[in-house]
Amino acid sequence: MIYTDFKGKKISQLGMGCMRLPVINGRESDIDIEQTARMTQYAFQHGINYFDTAYGYHNGRSEAVMGEILKNYPRESFYVATKFPGYDISYFGKEEEIFEEQLRRLQMDHVDFYLMHNVCELNIDKYLDPQGKTLSYFRQQKEKGRIVHLGFSFHGEYETLEAFLKVYGPYMEFGQLQLNYLDWEFQHAGKCLKLLEGMGIPVVVMEPLRGGKLCTQTPEFEARLKALRPEADMREWAFRFIQSVPNILTVLSGMSSFDQMVQNIQTFEEEKKLDDAEMKELLAIASEMATVGTVPCTACRYCTSYCPQELDIPRLLDLYNEHSLTGGGFIAPMALQAMPVEKHPDACIACRACEAVCPQNIKIADVFEKFAGMLKNA
Ligand code: SF4
Ligand code: SF4
Repeated sequence: MIYTDFKGKKISQLGMGCMRLPVINGRESDIDIEQTARMTQYAFQHGINYFDTAYGYHNGRSEAVMGEILKNYPRESFYVATKFPGYDISYFGKEEEIFEEQLRRLQMDHVDFYLMHNVCELNIDKYLDPQGKTLSYFRQQKEKGRIVHLGFSFHGEYETLEAFLKVYGPYMEFGQLQLNYLDWEFQHAGKCLKLLEGMGIPVVVMEPLRGGKLCTQTPEFEARLKALRPEADMREWAFRFIQSVPNILTVLSGMSSFDQMVQNIQTFEEEKKLDDAEMKELLAIASEMATVGTVPCTACRYCTSYCPQELDIPRLLDLYNEHSLTGGGFIAPMALQAMPVEKHPDACIACRACEAVCPQNIKIADVFEKFAGMLKNA
């Protein structure tokens, strides 16, 4: 296992994500404890020392199961990360109640890495509420030694990250980003990483395989990558990409099976960074992938003043692209929740005034109709 130095600690560069643990009969809250314990043991034997869970994972069962398993290992031999569930704004104001419950579930007296979970447009006002006590409460817990390092995870627009960091930046010791070669440009992950790097905040990577999407490639893309590294499979390319970018603390992979864990650990036995030619080819493939099933909106905003419904057309198209590319997922529905319903894609009345001025000739009304249908059937 390769390690990163973080404030005097040796953190394994591969962490065990506990969001997609093996389950019984497909039931999310019914974690296969025996299999998870076996995987955790294998993780320890192969040098993994970072375990990432959260209040809401597996309908609230992940923390408790990991607490039960981890209590069999010396407390100083691992680092546990968990999160304040700010993705649900009804939890603001209940910080103390939740944190105490988390310590009970984990059967621990401190958490090594504690994150504000899923900072995004939906909850940024709550996080930044001057009357709110979220930051002050967790800073107090840090002073008491019940939290060792404070950080956050992020799923939003670059501007939201900037706004969050203006207030929280001085106290954040790490940030967790969705980072992979597809999102490098597509979701502005590279830009977000740079912002954090400039502030001296290292990054924990989530979704390095984009929920498994990057484990396979089209035959054409695969052939292009195989020509450069014949021995590497597509999953390995995704991990080698992360090893080639700066400012990474650790990489989380939600491992749902023993085989996945064995493969992932093998990849992190050594560092094999991409060279310039490999990086260029991979990012070229990412940009080609991002055009399949997506619309080429450049966010010029020429169209917006023509919309009688005052829809944020480029933002909605951006969410459509995200939703199409991932084949669903939670990001677009979550971002839409932060918008009034009269600004959703189904509010489009198909007047086509926007299309007349769009230099990209996007059939915006048709896209919104399709998007509304996709969201309905999700
Ligand atoms: S077609 Fe829809 S998005 Fe375009 S201007 Fe009309 S209402 Fe707005
Ligand atoms: S005019 Fe076209 S390219 Fe420009 S923001 Fe509107 S939809 Fe996007």
